[in-house]
Amino acid sequence: MPGSGRPSPPPPRPPWVLLPSPALLLLLLLVLLPGGTLRSGLDSAVGSEVNLLDSRSVMGDLGWIAYPKNGWEEIGEVDENYAPIHTYQVCRVMEQSQNNWLLTSWISNRGASRIFIELKFTLRDCNSLPGGLGTCKETFNMYYFETDDEDGRNVKENQYIKIDTIAADESFTELDLGDRVMKLNTEVRDVGPLTKKGFYLAFQDVGACIALVSVRVYYKKCPEVIRNLAIFPDTITGADSSQLLEVLGSCVNHSVTDEPPRMHCSAEGEWLVPIGKCMCKAGYEEKNNTCQAPSPITNVKKGKVAKNSISLSWQEPDRPNGIILEYEIKYFEKDQETSYTIIKSKETKITADGLKPASVYVFQIRARTAAGYGGFSRRFEFETSPVSVAASSDQTQIPIIAVSVTVGVILLAVVIGFLLSGRRCGYSKAKQDPEEEKMHFHNGHIKLPGVRTYIDPHTYEDPNQAVHEFAKEIEASCISIERVIGAGEFGEVCSGRLKIPGKRELPVAIKTLKVGYTEKQRRDFLGEASIMGQFDHPNIIHLEGVVTKSKPVMIVTEYMENGSLDTFLKKNDGQFTVIQLVGMLRGIASGMKYLSDMGYVHRDLAARNILINSNLVCKVSDFGLSRILEDDPEAAYTTRGGKIPIRWTAPEAIAFRKFTSASDVWSYGIVMWEVVSYGERPYWEMTNQDVIKAVEEGYRLPSPMDCPAALYQLMLDCWQKDRNSRPKFDEIVCILDKLIRNPSSLKTLVNASSRVSNLLGEHSPLGNGVYRSVGEWLEAIKMGRYTEIFMENGYSSMDAVAQVTLEDLRRLGVTLVGHQKKIMNSLQEMKVQLVNGMVPL
Ligand code: AMP
Repeated sequence: MPGSGRPSPPPPRPPWVLLPSPALLLLLLLVLLPGGTLRSGLDSAVGSEVNLLDSRSVMGDLGWIAYPKNGWEEIGEVDENYAPIHTYQVCRVMEQSQNNWLLTSWISNRGASRIFIELKFTLRDCNSLPGGLGTCKETFNMYYFETDDEDGRNVKENQYIKIDTIAADESFTELDLGDRVMKLNTEVRDVGPLTKKGFYLAFQDVGACIALVSVRVYYKKCPEVIRNLAIFPDTITGADSSQLLEVLGSCVNHSVTDEPPRMHCSAEGEWLVPIGKCMCKAGYEEKNNTCQAPSPITNVKKGKVAKNSISLSWQEPDRPNGIILEYEIKYFEKDQETSYTIIKSKETKITADGLKPASVYVFQIRARTAAGYGGFSRRFEFETSPVSVAASSDQTQIPIIAVSVTVGVILLAVVIGFLLSGRRCGYSKAKQDPEEEKMHFHNGHIKLPGVRTYIDPHTYEDPNQAVHEFAKEIEASCISIERVIGAGEFGEVCSGRLKIPGKRELPVAIKTLKVGYTEKQRRDFLGEASIMGQFDHPNIIHLEGVVTKSKPVMIVTEYMENGSLDTFLKKNDGQFTVIQLVGMLRGIASGMKYLSDMGYVHRDLAARNILINSNLVCKVSDFGLSRILEDDPEAAYTTRGGKIPIRWTAPEAIAFRKFTSASDVWSYGIVMWEVVSYGERPYWEMTNQDVIKAVEEGYRLPSPMDCPAALYQLMLDCWQKDRNSRPKFDEIVCILDKLIRNPSSLKTLVNASSRVSNLLGEHSPLGNGVYRSVGEWLEAIKMGRYTEIFMENGYSSMDAVAQVTLEDLRRLGVTLVGHQKKIMNSLQEMKVQLVNGMVPL
C-alpha cells in the first residue's frame, strides 16, 4: 500500500484514483481546465484555430481503441451536465515491458497540411510511487499514421510515425492528491506537411501512470478579413512553420484597384504585410470597410420648353453621401445614343439648348462628390416644342442668348488670360470647360490625363491658391481636438476626430499653426498641405484637409496610432519578426517609388519622418519646401550654408546639393539600417564631420545585429558612391517583394566575423571591443536595463559574463526572445573577435 515501502499488488484502479473517488478527481481536473467549462462543437474556430477534434466536446462514444485490453482504459464519467468526459488512463507501473496503445478514430485534416495536437494530461511522479521504481516511466509517445480513409486503422504499430516523446512539466505525488492539487500539463506538437486526407493518432504508454484528460487537434488559419477595402478569404496556413502564403485580396463591391491588394498569411495564422489597396469607384464612398453608393437622383422636372431648348430641374439625391460638388447631365436625341452631350452644373437646374424642334430627348443626371460620380439617374424623356408654337418663345429667348453670348465671350477672355498667366507662372489649370479640366499645364506644356506630376507650390504666385488647389477647406466645427501628441515646428500636433456631414467620423492628427505667426510661417506651414494634398498612396500620409478660414490654422491628416517610426522601434526593441520589419521597409519603398514617379524628391527621408499605424503600415510624411530642413533637428549647416541632415544624406547632396531620387535612395538605405537596428542612431555618436569624412573615404555603416544578408546587401547598394549605380525605388520594392515571398532567403544572416570586418573602426561601440564593465557592454548593445540583474546575480565581470548561457538568461528574467538573441549574439561576437585575436575579452 502507499507508504508501506513494500511492493503492493497491482491495483484494480490506478493508485492515485484510489484516494479521492474518480468522479471527484475528474471534476477536479475539469475545474483546472482553462475556463472550467467544456468547449462546444467540433468545428468551432478558436481565434484563428479550427478544431478538427476536441475530445471534450464529443458527446457520444469517441470510438478510440485500446490494446492490449488491460492497458489504456476510459473512465466513463460524466460532468455536471451529464456530458461524457473522455479521459483515458493507464498505470501499469509495476509490470515490466509495457506497450499499451490507444488509437484515435480517423481524423480528417480538411485540407490543412499542418496540424497541431494539444494534449492535457496528468502524470504521476515515479519517485513518489511505492516500489516499482525500476519500471516506472514518466513519459509516453505520440504517433500518427496518414491515410485517405478509415482503412488504415489496422496497420502495424511500426507503420506509425513518431511525433514525439511527451514528458510532463509537472508530475504529481501522493501529497498533491492528499491536498487535492492536480497538476495538469498541456503540451502542443505540430505535424506537417500532411499529404493525405486524414490521419490517426496513437498514444503509446511504456509503463507510466498517466491520465490523458483531453486531446484537441486543430489547424491554424488566417481568418477572413477586410483590409484596405479588399477581402482576404479564410486561408489555411502553409505546411512549413516558417512559410508565408501570399494571398490576393478581392476588392469589396463597388471598389477597384490598379495593383491587386495582397497580404501574407503566416504559419501562426496572422495576416502580415498588406500591399496595395482598393478604392471606392467614382461616386462611392468608403464607410465601415464597404463602398455605399449615393442614391440616384429620382426627381427630375421639366421646366420651360422651347423649340430648341428644354429646361430641367431636379432635387439632390436622398442620400448624397458627401458634399455634392457638381452634377453631370447627359442627353441625346432618342434612339441616337451614340451621339450625346454632357453638361456640368453646380446647380440643380440647367437648360439644354441647340435641340431640334419637336424631338424627344433622353436625359440622365448624376451627382459628383469628393469620391467621384454616382450612378446615373433613370432615363427621363422630354420633347421640344414644334416650330409654330416656339416662334413667340424664341423672341423671348433673344435677350437671354445675347446675354449668354456676352458672358461666353467674357468667360473665354478670362480663360485665355488665365491660361497665358499660367504659362508665365509655370502652372495653371483650366477649370471651366469640362474637356480642359482634364488637362494640366506644367511649365507651359500640356500634361496628358493619367500622367501625374508633382507641382511645386512655389510656382504659384499666390501660395493660398496652391493650398486651395490641392487641399480641401474644412470647417473648424467639424474637428474636435482630443490631446496633444507631439510638437511640430509651427505649433502643437494633436489627435482628434473629424466629422464631415455625410461622411463617417475619422480619427485624425491635427497640426496647428501657433499664434503670432508671420506671413512666411503661414505660407511654409500650409506649403506642406499643398504638397501632401497632391499625393494619393497607401504609404504616403493622407491629407484630409486644411482650416485656413478661421484660427488657429490647421492641417488635418489621417491618424497614425503608433506615431513616428524611430520612436516606435526604440520602444519595441527586438519585438518583431524579420518579415514584419521587411514589411515596414516594403511600405516605405513603395511610398518612395510613388513620390519619385511623381517627380518629388523628399530630401529628408529618415525613420523619424515615417509614421506607423496600428497595422504596422508605414507612411512617408514630413513634406516641406525650404523648411523641411529647417525644422529637422538633425539638419546641420554645411560649409555652403545649406542645412542638411548629414547622417541620412548622400555625399553628392552634401557636397554640391545634388538632391535627386537617387539621393533619396541613399537615405532609404539609412532608414533600412535604422529599422533593422530598431531605431539605433546611424553612426552612433560620431560627429557630423567624422561621418562625412568616413563616408568619403569609403566606409559604410556595418550590418546591424541579426541582419539578413540580403537586406544588408541592399543597404550597401543604396550607399553606392556613384548615384547611377544605386537601385531605383521600383527595383527596391521588387527585391523586397521577392524576399517576402520567399522568407527562407532571409534566414542567412550577416555572419559575426564579416560584421566585425565592416565595423567603422574606432567609431563603433563594438569596434574597440573592450568593455570596462558589464554595464558598459550592456549599454552598448542597448540592453542596459539588465545591468542591475546581471550584477545582483554575480555576473559582475566580463569574464563571468562570458560563461552566460541561454538558460542563465531565462533564469535572470530575460524572457524576450529578441533580447536573449541580442545578448547571446553579442557574446558570440566577442568570442569570435577573441579567436581572431582582435579583442581581449
Ligand atoms: P511633425 O511636425 O510632422 O514632425 O510631427 C511631430 C510629431 O507629431 C511626430 O513626430 C509624431 O509623433 C506626431 N505626428 C505627426 N503627424 C502624426 C499623425 N498623422 N499621426 C500620429 N502622430 C503624428
